[in-house]
Amino acid sequence: MHPIVLPLLLGSTLSVELPIYVEMELPPRALERALAEADRLFDAGGIRFHWRLSPDESLSSAPASVVVLPRPETVVISGCSRNLHDHRLGHTDIGARRVTLWTEQVARAVEGSWDRKESPRVEEDALGIALGRVLAHELGHLFLRLNGHRENGLMKPSFSHRALVGKSDRAFRFSEEDLERVRAAIRRLQARKGETQLRFGKVKFCEASRSSLSRRR
Ligand SMILES: [Zn+2]
Repeated sequence: MHPIVLPLLLGSTLSVELPIYVEMELPPRALERALAEADRLFDAGGIRFHWRLSPDESLSSAPASVVVLPRPETVVISGCSRNLHDHRLGHTDIGARRVTLWTEQVARAVEGSWDRKESPRVEEDALGIALGRVLAHELGHLFLRLNGHRENGLMKPSFSHRALVGKSDRAFRFSEEDLERVRAAIRRLQARKGETQLRFGKVKFCEASRSSLSRRR
């Protein structure tokens, strides 16, 4: 790649169309807050999502899709109330490039009463912020093709319920390296669909990133 091309690519805003299917009743305020929080976390890497709510036609160019459900088929609500492993809150199918969020589980985590069996009742803004952070974390798994976790930041394996909704966002950031990897992954996925192949004609950058990413699996 020409040495001037790389900084130009890294400095540009990357627009990403993402379909989201909300398969349950979710207060509009909570959804709006969730998407805004996820936007904020990726904005640090110049990544701009355009959310398409339950689009009629399939978005062939979308590098990922998001499904919002109340709970997993097999509900896990026992023990481990301090270490809320994200797999209770959401799930990422890296191969299918699909993220699933479980709002009831996230609400339980926000409430901090993981073991209570009744439906949790939490404030819409708090639920939204937590959902947005879980969404960003799961998208991180997807774009980084990361089955494991990082030691710090947004890709940590577990969060306290206070941190999930807390104002301090230090615990909830992607590292700069991961943001670069996410950008590379999105470009690669978009190029594969033929959408941006001409615009980002230097495919070698994406190919190199792909092989370095797959080694991390
Ligand atoms: Zn995780």
